[in-house]
Amino acid sequence: MIEAAFAHHGLPWRYVNMEVSPKELGDAVRGARAMGFRGFNCSLPHKVSVISHLDGLGESAAVMGAVNCVVRRDGKLIGENTDGKGFLRSLAELIDPRGKSVVLFGAGGAARAIAVELGLAGTRRITIVNRSATRARELVAVLRDKLQVEAEFVQWPGDYTVPADTAIVINGTSIGLYAPKARLPLDAASLQPHMVVADVVFSPVRTAFLQEAAARGCRTLDGLGMLVNQGVIGVQYWTGIDPDVTVMRRALESALGV
Ligand code: NDP
Repeated sequence: MIEAAFAHHGLPWRYVNMEVSPKELGDAVRGARAMGFRGFNCSLPHKVSVISHLDGLGESAAVMGAVNCVVRRDGKLIGENTDGKGFLRSLAELIDPRGKSVVLFGAGGAARAIAVELGLAGTRRITIVNRSATRARELVAVLRDKLQVEAEFVQWPGDYTVPADTAIVINGTSIGLYAPKARLPLDAASLQPHMVVADVVFSPVRTAFLQEAAARGCRTLDGLGMLVNQGVIGVQYWTGIDPDVTVMRRALESALGV
C-alpha cells in the first residue's frame, strides 16, 4: 500500500520490510540514521524499546509511550504513533468524537492508541471494558491524569450492556481476528441505531460484530480504514504529500485478498 502510493505519485522511493531482532534494534536505528532514511514504521516487539534510540516524540506517542512510526525532522528522528490517528481519521468520515461518550473494548496496544487520540480530540467519556484489569487500569489513569477525560474501567461482565447514551462503540480487542464467527460478549440488543460501531479487526473485513451492529441499524467502520489511514499519515509525514487514499486502500485489499 505504501509503495502503491509512491508509484501513483511518481516518487522514486522504496518501503522495505526488514526483520530486526530486539538486541539489534539500536544498530538498526543507527543504520537508518546513517543511510539517511526519511523514516520507518516499527511493529511489535519494538514499539516501546525504540523510544530510547530516538531524539524526541510526538504528542500522542509521548502520552501512550509507544511508537509505530519514525520520521526524520530537521535531522532528528522523532517517534510518532499513527495507529490511533489512523482510526480517528477513519472515524471522522462518520462522527466527530468531541464531547461524546465512547465504549472501548480492550486495553492492549490498539485500544490504548485509540483511547489516547480520542482523549486528545476532546472525547468526554471513555469506558474501557476489558477482561483483565492491570493494563486497563493503567490506561484509565493515563486518560484521567494526562488528558482529563472522564474514564472508567469495567471488568468484562459476561455480556456487556452498552449504555444508551453511548455515541461510539469500538472493538479494540483481537476477538474476531481470522475468526469470522467469533462473538464479542455483549448484549447486541443494547446497540442502537444512533451509535457508530467500529472494529479494529481487519480480517475478516466484515466481522460478526460489525454485521450484528449493521443489522441493528448502526453505522459501522471496519478495521481496514484504520490500517489504510495510518499508512496515509505515515506517507504524509515522510514525503509531505497527501497520498490518494483510494489507491492505497485498493492496494491493501489486493494484498490481503479481500
Ligand atoms: P494486544 O495483544 O496488545 O491486546 C489484545 C486485547 O484483546 C487485550 O485487551 C486483550 O484482553 C483482548 N482480548 C484478546 N482475546 C480476548 C478474549 N478472548 N476475550 C476478551 N478479550 C480478549 O493486541 P493489539 O492491541 O496490538 O491488537 C488488537 C487487535 O487490533 C488485533 O486484532 C490487531 O490485528 C488489531 N489491530 C488493527 C490495526 C488496524 O490498523 N486496523 C492496528 C493495530 C492492531 P486482556 O488485556 O484481558 O488480555
